[in-house]
Amino acid sequence: GNLRGFAKVTRDITQRKQSQERRELEMLRDAVRARDEFLSVASHELKTPLTPLQLKLTALLRTVENNPSATLPVERISRDLEVARRQVRKLSDLIEDLLDVSRISMGQLRLDRAPMDLASLARDVVARYAPQSAQVGCVVTLEAPTPTPGHWDRSRVDQVITNLLTNALKYGAGKPVHIRVRMEAGLAVLSVRDEGIGIPMEDQPRVFERFVRAVSERNYGGLGLGLFITQQIIEAHNGIVQVRSAPGEGSTFTVMLPPGPDLPPEPGAGAPPE
Ligand code: ADP
Repeated sequence: GNLRGFAKVTRDITQRKQSQERRELEMLRDAVRARDEFLSVASHELKTPLTPLQLKLTALLRTVENNPSATLPVERISRDLEVARRQVRKLSDLIEDLLDVSRISMGQLRLDRAPMDLASLARDVVARYAPQSAQVGCVVTLEAPTPTPGHWDRSRVDQVITNLLTNALKYGAGKPVHIRVRMEAGLAVLSVRDEGIGIPMEDQPRVFERFVRAVSERNYGGLGLGLFITQQIIEAHNGIVQVRSAPGEGSTFTVMLPPGPDLPPEPGAGAPPE
């Protein structure tokens, strides 16, 4: 009886070990699949800007070689250079995103906080993207009724607003984009609303994960890093970022930022009351 019991226990342990090994193997396969898929998407995204870049540079070289005199078609040259510059910018943005992801995973995302106003930064970003917005036929409005002061890392918050605005332009189907900045319950709140393609319900909780892109948006290009980086920046500021979206109706991304730690008083502001 004891022996039979012992054999059964041994069999149970063996079976449990085998199913654990199967699970581990399955997880390893998933990880390898995810890595291969990322490598393929990343190589594709990094290669895409290179084709127009190469074409334009070759064309420019030919033009200059064939026109040793002063008869260069300046207008076409400057158009081609603009295309080339845009593609180089795209590549450097992609590489910067990849570097940010490795900084984040090594815990090296440092904040350089200083007093600033969220609404005026949003105004700067909207102005910077005015040409790009016009190009996709999109009207961007900004509503900022009150000042929204806080101590944040200006360039990182700029990156957040830029990510949300460029996504709204990319997925917004050329329809209006509305940005609202306000104070609510002591928090600075910024929301970016578009009326574009929206995000399927099942993808909404995952769009902030790295390398995740909503299934229906595969043909738009992108590495799926912008929202991951956005969330990490906001959380480093002890804030929250959320999405509300309906397919075919549009998306609203909302960022809530606490004003941040008090900085030393401005010189000449006087000692705080006892
Ligand atoms: P990507 O480079 O792919 O745009 P993001 O991390 O910025 O990466 O976004 C992740 C995914 O979330 C996108 O691939 C897209 O599917 C979805 N998404 C983000 N913003 C929007 C938006 N405004 N409208 C619809 N889908 C969006």
